[in-house]
Amino acid sequence: MNIILLGPPGAGKGTQARKLVDDRNMVQLSTGDMLRAARTSGTEMGRKVAAVMDRGELVTDEIVIGLIREQLLAAGDHGGFIFDGFPRTLAQADALGELLSEIGARVDHVIELQVNDDVLVERIIGRAAETVAAGGQARADDNEESLKTRLMAYYKQTSPLVGYYYAKGDLKTVDGLASMDDVAQSIADAIA
Ligand code: AMP
Repeated sequence: MNIILLGPPGAGKGTQARKLVDDRNMVQLSTGDMLRAARTSGTEMGRKVAAVMDRGELVTDEIVIGLIREQLLAAGDHGGFIFDGFPRTLAQADALGELLSEIGARVDHVIELQVNDDVLVERIIGRAAETVAAGGQARADDNEESLKTRLMAYYKQTSPLVGYYYAKGDLKTVDGLASMDDVAQSIADAIA
């Protein structure tokens, strides 16, 4: 079973994806994590994407589709893929459908995590503050300026995917403002 978690930054996609990995032996494919790993590995691609990410803009479709293709082909035995932060554009959504059909698979469920924008801003600024308080370094894009750009990128480029997957009949909407466990339960019900 392959699942897409759709929602704005701070909606809880990463948290819920990790839970599905633990509970169902699924494989989490987070393009944000892959891009952050590429940045620290000092590759040419990492250098190219760093400034774009820090501003909160989307990196090119070509780069993220390439990353996803590699991971899809490299994965061994597992309970399915959870796409977290991918696709983020209609072109990425089309590419994902094609890539999955190449390996004889499909998108089975798209879960939209619905939250309101005030909560997102609080969560993300809170996440940065917690990381710093614990002696860590906050994500370079977890500041108010980048957050505005990330939210705008979501509404302009990613939110059309809600309609796209609704029309395909794959969309389930979940209240992302509920507690972590309740959201997990709603997702479990939606994919049962
Ligand atoms: P995330 O961890 O999912 O919030 O992603 C962090 C940043 O990585 C985003 O703000 C984008 O700059 C970039 N990014 C992650 N996934 C994608 C994607 N599917 N398409 C384009 N850019 C992405």
